[in-house]
Amino acid sequence: MIDFLTQCRAIVGDAYVLDAPADMAPFLTDWRGRFTGKALAVLRPGSVEQVAALVRACVSQQVALVPQGGNTGLVLGSVPDASGAQVVLSLARLNSIRQIDPVNRTMTVDAGCILQQIQEAAAAEGCLFPLSLAAEGSCTIGGNLSTNAGGTAVLRYGNTRELCLGLEVVTPQGEVWSGLRGLRKDNTGYDLRDLFIGAEGTLGIITGAVLKLYPQPKASITALAALPSPAAAQQLLVLMQDYCGSSLTGFELMSRYCLELVAEQFPQLPKPFVTPHAHYVLLELSSSESERHAVGLLEQAIGAALERDVINDAVVATSVAQSADLWQLREHIPLAQAKAGKNIKHDISLPVSRIADFIAVTGPQLDAAFPGCQLVCFGHLGDGNLHYNVAPPVGISNEDFLANQEKVNRVVHDSVVSFGGSISAEHGIGALKRDELAHYKSTVELNMMRAIKAALDPLGIMNPGKIL
Ligand SMILES: Cc1cc2nc3c(=O)[nH]c(=O)nc-3n(C[C@H](O)[C@H](O)[C@H](O)COP(=O)(O)OP(=O)(O)OC[C@H]3O[C@@H](n4cnc5c(N)ncnc54)[C@H](O)[C@@H]3O)c2cc1C
Repeated sequence: MIDFLTQCRAIVGDAYVLDAPADMAPFLTDWRGRFTGKALAVLRPGSVEQVAALVRACVSQQVALVPQGGNTGLVLGSVPDASGAQVVLSLARLNSIRQIDPVNRTMTVDAGCILQQIQEAAAAEGCLFPLSLAAEGSCTIGGNLSTNAGGTAVLRYGNTRELCLGLEVVTPQGEVWSGLRGLRKDNTGYDLRDLFIGAEGTLGIITGAVLKLYPQPKASITALAALPSPAAAQQLLVLMQDYCGSSLTGFELMSRYCLELVAEQFPQLPKPFVTPHAHYVLLELSSSESERHAVGLLEQAIGAALERDVINDAVVATSVAQSADLWQLREHIPLAQAKAGKNIKHDISLPVSRIADFIAVTGPQLDAAFPGCQLVCFGHLGDGNLHYNVAPPVGISNEDFLANQEKVNRVVHDSVVSFGGSISAEHGIGALKRDELAHYKSTVELNMMRAIKAALDPLGIMNPGKIL
């Protein structure tokens, strides 16, 4: 039998089979630097046919593979395990925009296209591709689809799943399924596309996608509201939706502690309020008419919120630069946390109506179990998605506190489940939350998932050890 790597080199060329430790290093450690795996090699195909041929080589020699896009995933899904027996298959060289259809409002892309590249290509045609997240300069659309990424525009446009009409996939047998249909209606049996979206590379390799485009809004306007409580934030959401309908495109909750952390770590950023408030909501409105229309809607809604004592105060950005400044506060929260030290992260979702109760109940439970722990609570409240991170009490080292990860997870996730929520809102499961998934999913659900995996990937070569 020909040596496996010789077979791979014959398919993609010597330059695109990396097996020297220094060349492989960037592909083996996760974005947060928590885990470094080992690999037999990193394979970098340049076409769909090469991806398929590499998968067939893996099948013939029973080598497991880990698909990788931008390696910005947060749940250890895109890095190999410690065995040194797996290969990383990087999609980064598949990075062409294949076609834009401005009438059908669709774009067909390679899976390795960087998200920002797609946003810019859409804008050049006067269109909007609304998926937006802080990793957009590095993450790929294949990774976004495989994690069903959310981001900041879900409230108006949905998750990545809602932004995709068709897929091209290399199956675990090395066949190419071309489902690149730009159809908004297609009821022809089981929806295979939806199986691969959010599958985190465990069912096949996405090589291409047809994405939905939207008209560019004529204007976007941002405001920061100060509020007394998460319950007030829930009320504000309903009020804003009543006044602004689908013009409301962003609704991000931040606790006082989050903005204090940002101010401490990034003192150069603006401080919009002189006196601190318990909570803040970053609001974004987009109008298909004009800036005047957007400002009018926002002023009316904020006026009503002030009158009904839902909010204490508000700052409205009067320029694009001021809007960007306000968004920077939100986007710097994860960076401020990283600078301040380590914490135990939770990416949870809840019915919007239960968020205030969840926060009211879970904080005291954590404080009882880990006195003095700090909560970094922020997120896409409009989508019912909170980043609920628990940092060590003052005087306790990161390492000592992280040893409690399992116990902290149990308190938070038990509470999430008791409020009808999910333990992963937008980051996925990967290897990091696999045991949590097994703990909380019903046997019926897990068995259906295992049956799908076994049917599509009977050899178990697609990203083993992730999700299931
Ligand atoms: C700073 C920062 C901010 C973030 N913000 C958000 C946010 O707001 N919302 C959100 O949802 N997520 C967010 N994320 C995490 C998010 O999951 C990723 O950024 C993104 O969706 C992953 O894309 P990627 O190309 O980096 O995929 P990778 O990290 O390379 O891979 C992620 C998973 O998808 C699989 N995969 C990758 N490409 C393919 C493919 N072509 N076919 C099959 N499987 C594949 C991998 O095996 C892995 O399981 C953030 C991450 C960072 C670092």
